[in-house]
Amino acid sequence: MKNSYPDNLVSQTWSGPLEKPASIPDAADVVIIGGGIVGVSTAWFLSRQGVAVTLCEKGYIAGEQSGRNWGWVRQQGRDVRELPMMIDSMRIWRGLAEELGEDVGYTEAGCLFAAKNEKQLAEFQKWVDVAKDFDLDTQVLVKKELATHLRGAAIDWPGAMYTASDGRAEPHKAAPAIARAAKRNSANILTGCAVRGIEMMAGRVSAVVTEHGRIRTSTVLCAAGAWSSMFCRSLDISLPQLQVRGTVTRTVPGPDVLSGNLFEDRIGIRRRQDGGYTVAHASILDHAITPSTFRYCFKFLPALRQEFGALRISIGREFIDEWQTPRTWDLDKPSPFEATRVLDPQPNQKALSGIRRNMGIIFPALKGIEIAESWAGMVETTPDVVPIIDSPESIPGFHIATGFSGHGFGIGPGAGKALAALLTGNDPGIDLQPFRLARFFDGSPISPQSGI
Ligand SMILES: Cc1cc2nc3c(=O)[nH]c(=O)nc-3n(C[C@H](O)[C@H](O)[C@H](O)COP(=O)(O)OP(=O)(O)OC[C@H]3O[C@@H](n4cnc5c(N)ncnc54)[C@H](O)[C@@H]3O)c2cc1C
Repeated sequence: MKNSYPDNLVSQTWSGPLEKPASIPDAADVVIIGGGIVGVSTAWFLSRQGVAVTLCEKGYIAGEQSGRNWGWVRQQGRDVRELPMMIDSMRIWRGLAEELGEDVGYTEAGCLFAAKNEKQLAEFQKWVDVAKDFDLDTQVLVKKELATHLRGAAIDWPGAMYTASDGRAEPHKAAPAIARAAKRNSANILTGCAVRGIEMMAGRVSAVVTEHGRIRTSTVLCAAGAWSSMFCRSLDISLPQLQVRGTVTRTVPGPDVLSGNLFEDRIGIRRRQDGGYTVAHASILDHAITPSTFRYCFKFLPALRQEFGALRISIGREFIDEWQTPRTWDLDKPSPFEATRVLDPQPNQKALSGIRRNMGIIFPALKGIEIAESWAGMVETTPDVVPIIDSPESIPGFHIATGFSGHGFGIGPGAGKALAALLTGNDPGIDLQPFRLARFFDGSPISPQSGI
């Protein structure tokens, strides 16, 4: 497939020529909006069942969050509601390269959350107790045990939470490889193909309208990442979702200081398959105020309180851009989705210098290491930082899977498997009730999981 990252390319922000589809199918059993890890995994699982599936991606496969993330595949520290799906996702990751016949860079080298003090170390124990209920191998390591996982770290943490069975994969490889596998199973994977909206007949979905024409279908999945709220709003579905910008770097190959993933107060760092490190600032997240901030602010108050220390709030061009975006548009004219093929925010320079500085403080062997590339990604999040997976009653045939809130890469394959079952009327094998959209409107307490 041409419109994905070439195998040998490590860049996270590749944007080669955008190949638009020569033709689009007249009809499909299922149409998926969005070529991130959730969309392509669903397409892959559907294609394995022989379902005629078409995926429409306005830009490139994994061009947004799914190609720009840290690459952590972790169970550790997750909200309990996500754990069954995540544990299933781990099973998929373990066999994924073999199933796809392509490398995705998956390695199980463990995940560490270093404690900044004894109090935090004691708090980690609470999650370890949760892990026990799910038969996970999470444990609290004391200082001496932690030292065996790090080579030459200069920080004197009192200990860490550790899950040996957590892993990492290469974002620039995973979703494109899954998309290629779906395509080999006869899925239509269309890039450069924005979906403008849907059409209804006899009270249910009858077609999607793309920039290249109409595809008849009775089943649509909106897996549009940061664009889901806007898409749903055009259908009169209120979906609380906000965005924060995360800044990330990757280094050239360097000394072996760590085999897996480490999160501490200042940085999140993981070893890469190419011998370098993917490193991010742990306490700088940028939120540009937009009309959506006001629209959903009350629902986001608990999350805002929790992330307050890390959030850098600003107001600028983004406010005007969203303000000027119409709520609905004619489906025979270009839509806002065509106007921004790839959400490609600029990295935060302050975060970049913080990453360089802190990496050197924590791992002196990495001091001054060359940064090969820096980028940013827009993380979309829900008020309780848990995804929304739902089939709104107002539009029979329309389904939503979004809001993976900064940790959807790891759970993506598991979500795809559950969604493929949901869309074909089969048992997803996982309780999807906790992910229903109505939880934000029916008086349920909105409680983002505290912690990391
Ligand atoms: C900086 C950063 C670090 C992260 N780190 C991690 C991590 O270490 N581990 C982890 O598990 N998760 C991480 N995440 C989160 C993870 O990347 C996301 O949760 C996950 O990739 C979401 O996948 P998705 O398929 O839902 O959305 P996306 O990958 O955003 O894909 C949605 C796609 O839909 C397309 N689209 C939107 N509207 C339309 C339309 N109308 N027509 C056609 N196409 C459309 C978009 O172009 C986009 O490509 C991180 C995210 C970021 C940004």
